[in-house]
Amino acid sequence: MRGTMRTVVSALVAAAVVLGASAPAAAFCVFNCNYTKTKYPIVLEHGLGGFDELFGVYSYWFGIVGALEDGGARVFTTTVSQLNSTEARGEQLIDQIETITALTGKPKVNLIGHSHGGLDIRYVAAVRPDLVASVSSVATPHKGAALADYLRANVKDGSFTEAVLAYFANSLGTVIGLLTGHSNPQDGIAALSSLTSSGLAAFNAQYPQGVPASACGSGAASVNGIRYYSWSGTGILTNALDVSDSSLALSSFFYPEANDGLVGKCSSHLGTVIRDNYFQNHLDEVNQILGLVSIFESSPPSIFRAHANRLKAAGL
Ligand code: CA
Repeated sequence: MRGTMRTVVSALVAAAVVLGASAPAAAFCVFNCNYTKTKYPIVLEHGLGGFDELFGVYSYWFGIVGALEDGGARVFTTTVSQLNSTEARGEQLIDQIETITALTGKPKVNLIGHSHGGLDIRYVAAVRPDLVASVSSVATPHKGAALADYLRANVKDGSFTEAVLAYFANSLGTVIGLLTGHSNPQDGIAALSSLTSSGLAAFNAQYPQGVPASACGSGAASVNGIRYYSWSGTGILTNALDVSDSSLALSSFFYPEANDGLVGKCSSHLGTVIRDNYFQNHLDEVNQILGLVSIFESSPPSIFRAHANRLKAAGL
């Protein structure tokens, strides 16, 4: 249990330790300058333990924001509680989307969420469909994450272990929050419960939009005029230089199906499944750490660019 906790914490911390580096700046565009120019702004919502920028310079979406902006997209990154329930994070996200629509004069946004962020954006689309043109999830555990099930099963309600887990998780979330200049409330146990298979079964019953009816099929491409898409990876050890790969290799043992270290292949399905087996692990999907991903796979920024072009072609 202690080893597992250490693995989880180190995986979370791994994303946060590379401080002081800055993401590549948007290059001067000479061709394909409108490739990603969507009708509505693109909003990127981070996952559990995530952030928008550390110290205002290191982006969770490493090299992705610039790649999207190069092609003409208007891009916003949001920050919600690093560790909290989907509903709590979703409500915080709604506040930020309202600011974005006011700022841009566009009535809706294209939401893209990584990991837990994919659940937050589903919540927003369900309760505030007027604000949403599309929902795209990247490696989101729509049917639950096996690691969350394991932790929840081994951490009993009100136990000493739960108190310790909550303390560490909430502290980590608060530290990341402070580094990013935000102070959203943290609740590690609520976050964990939101990511278990039983937590997701309840969430899916209440917010079924885009969720596949079968265990590993696709969901509806469009619900109430909102498009739904998803993609994910099944790589683990993808780059020998990336220290986070070993943590993901350990956590991948909890999964009965192909996975990216934290999210199973079939669990990631939502709406139109673009692809579910990129040779990418859970951090590669957002081009972490520092762009250390497999050289034998499409680069994460190019995958995001292709998706923005897909949204543009759909009139979004
Ligand atoms: Ca990596």
